[in-house]
Amino acid sequence: MAEILNGKEVSAYIREQIKNRCNELSEIGIMPGLAVVLVGNNPASEIYVRNKKKACDEVGIYSEEYRLDSNTTQQQLLDLIYELNQKPDIDGILVQLPLPSHIDEKAVIAAIDPSKDVDAFSNQSVGMLSVGNPTFLPCTPAGIMEILKYYKIDVESKECVIVGRSNIVGKPMAMMMLNANATVTICHSKTNNLKEICKRADILIVAVGKKKLIDAEYVKPGAVVIDVGMNRDENGKLCGDVDFESVKDVASYITPVPGGVGPMTISMLLYNTIRNL
Ligand code: NDP
Repeated sequence: MAEILNGKEVSAYIREQIKNRCNELSEIGIMPGLAVVLVGNNPASEIYVRNKKKACDEVGIYSEEYRLDSNTTQQQLLDLIYELNQKPDIDGILVQLPLPSHIDEKAVIAAIDPSKDVDAFSNQSVGMLSVGNPTFLPCTPAGIMEILKYYKIDVESKECVIVGRSNIVGKPMAMMMLNANATVTICHSKTNNLKEICKRADILIVAVGKKKLIDAEYVKPGAVVIDVGMNRDENGKLCGDVDFESVKDVASYITPVPGGVGPMTISMLLYNTIRNL
């Protein structure tokens, strides 16, 4: 049976360090600040925003929420971002995605001051990561790197296969693994022989959004399996992209869903908010 990579434990460890840093900062009169902008009333986004606020409160980060109507214009949103860019008490700006369809997400992300881009989705942050000189790191893949570090799982020279090439998980994950000297393969919906490629992996990272896509037949004995997926099964229960029950007997380490990668994302957002202080 594989060892469980406990994201809750790693997350608690990181939040403790962040809390300590916030305490140190408060002694010299600095309180880190995060602005979270939510447009419309997407129920999932509401939950994420609430969780982010709670996490900020717990570690000692000041947070502001901006809730805008779903028919807010792009210009109104941009004006708010320009205002937040100038606010000295705000160190990070997060615009909760997705935005309503009449707003161009790319234009909004591009408007965020790169020094406050705590989600790391801007061209500047992506570019810096690509040239191996990262500033902010995107939270989910950065959280995965922290899990690997916590469990002392060596990445260098390992064969790493990533399934999924999204801008928020798959691609930055590949860059981070490459920067950590892994040999990286990225798979996607047009990849042939997915099973064979996955089976080569020493470290298999799955970020697809299809429940139980990856079973034991995709996994090399002893591989480390990281499941980013967050799906609902037939009974409405949260499940990953990996069939945990079958893979746990083949892998050496595995992240569960829930309790694996998920808890890390907000922790890395908190980390990004204090990183420049
Ligand atoms: P996207 O939908 O943006 O990307 C999915 C990727 O999977 C695409 O690159 C797609 O390929 C690829 N794909 C789809 N079907 C297959 C297939 N059958 N075989 C191989 N590749 C396939 O998703 P995200 O990256 O945003 O998210 C992925 C999952 O991770 C979701 O379940 C999401 O909820 C979860 N997630 C979890 C987070 C957390 O904090 N735990 C944070 C972010 C996401 P193509 O490019 O060809 O379309």
